[in-house]
Amino acid sequence: CGMVAIVGRPNVGKSTLLNKLLGQKVSITSKKPQTTRHRIMGIHTDGAKQIVFIDTPGLHIEEKRAINRLMNRAAASSLADVSMVVFVVDGMTWTEDDEMVLKKLSHRNGDRKIVLAINKVDEIKDKEALFPHLETLSTKLDFDEILPISASKGTNVQRLLDLAQSSLPDAPFYFP
Ligand code: GDP
Repeated sequence: CGMVAIVGRPNVGKSTLLNKLLGQKVSITSKKPQTTRHRIMGIHTDGAKQIVFIDTPGLHIEEKRAINRLMNRAAASSLADVSMVVFVVDGMTWTEDDEMVLKKLSHRNGDRKIVLAINKVDEIKDKEALFPHLETLSTKLDFDEILPISASKGTNVQRLLDLAQSSLPDAPFYFP
């Protein structure tokens, strides 16, 4: 099976997305940031293919607090050995923490896919106002796909699953 990491600062909707991707509640969602303190995994099975989704703890720019350092380290280790990274942002708010996640992602190269998932599009009334930072963002990182999503309503979540499936390495042969 392959692994897909879901990364982003706290409160952008990573846990909600993981739950939607798996079609069942495995990760705790909360209005309070820092609910996800450890790596939480879930397995999506589609026929013979299995994808392990990793919901990373939120990334924090402020590293004075031990909990923030711990969460940053756990998130960074989640990025190893994945075939795809889903960078989740909130369609309406861009913060310094997002900037830090972006920097961390651009430092690591490799042949993994990077998808930008612009979440909470269900809340965006004026489509013109959709993520004003998008142009700047796409010059900083070469995304394989930019996808407006609604983790809570499920908009474009199937497309994300399809991308995750296609990022998986070919299954090796197992001899009995
Ligand atoms: P995480 O910290 O990144 O894992 O974020 P959560 O999944 O815990 O979600 C944070 C908050 O955003 C919760 O109040 C969610 O209900 C809300 N949220 C998540 N996804 C969406 C979405 O697609 N649309 C809207 N309107 N709210 C969302």
